[in-house]
Amino acid sequence: MKIVNPWIEVEKIDGIQIMKKIERACRTCYRSEGNISEDSYKNLLKNCINRGHESVLEHEKVSIRMYCDIGVYKDLTRHRFASFSIESTRYCSYDKDKYGNEIKCINPSYIEDKAVYEEWKKSMEEIEKRYMKMKELGATTDMCRLILPHSTAAEVTMTADIREWKHILELRTSNKAHPAIRQLLIPLLKYFQKEMPEIFENVEYDKDFDEKNYAEFRIAE
Ligand SMILES: Cc1cc2nc3c(=O)[nH]c(=O)nc-3n(C[C@H](O)[C@H](O)[C@H](O)COP(=O)(O)OP(=O)(O)OC[C@H]3O[C@@H](n4cnc5c(N)ncnc54)[C@H](O)[C@@H]3O)c2cc1C
Repeated sequence: MKIVNPWIEVEKIDGIQIMKKIERACRTCYRSEGNISEDSYKNLLKNCINRGHESVLEHEKVSIRMYCDIGVYKDLTRHRFASFSIESTRYCSYDKDKYGNEIKCINPSYIEDKAVYEEWKKSMEEIEKRYMKMKELGATTDMCRLILPHSTAAEVTMTADIREWKHILELRTSNKAHPAIRQLLIPLLKYFQKEMPEIFENVEYDKDFDEKNYAEFRIAE
């Protein structure tokens, strides 16, 4: 059993271009394309968001990849306006060389109590032993996946439009969301706030969440 750290990778985006494209679409409503200037998108987008005229944000989308646990994608796939491609626990057989003959578990670094962390680790090791034993006995991957824990690591590709990202980040970066999601999505929110402040600057997140638990954040080249 290998303990691995989560990461999140976002496609390289140009926030200003995204906001300008949304502005262009939005101005269709008022036939005010003639008012477009270098920074006219700023007020337009702020006004739209203040008034709840948020469907205009659906014209642009962003994809991410992440390495997370099953619990994270179980929660995130509840969001109906996002698209997902997820490593399959039915297809990927972790006893094979390709997967290092082991189960990988996302490190729950936010468990600070050492005794609790140790119990978690022992449980994961035990599950891995049982998974391999089931395989030895001829169980199919479909059968073996029945015992995989929430901590099992998986790669996920996720795409959503800007409106849905705003909604997901509002819900999933607060202190009500599971820490395993906060550690991935707070860094993403901070990136969106830098790239598209007019859209994301007012999204509140859990500022007390310890930065040392943030997932590694990468921008894809
Ligand atoms: C802290 C927290 C705890 C949770 N706990 C539980 C739990 O214990 N059990 C559980 O089952 N789930 C739980 N959930 C999941 C939650 O109930 C939602 O299913 C999930 O957050 C997706 O949110 P959504 O429906 O707003 O989002 P999306 O599916 O992303 O939809 C976006 C928005 O579109 C609109 N919309 C989408 N579909 C419809 C529709 N059919 N009718 C009307 N409007 C629609 C809504 O305005 C919605 O907010 C929890 C979520 C959070 C954040």
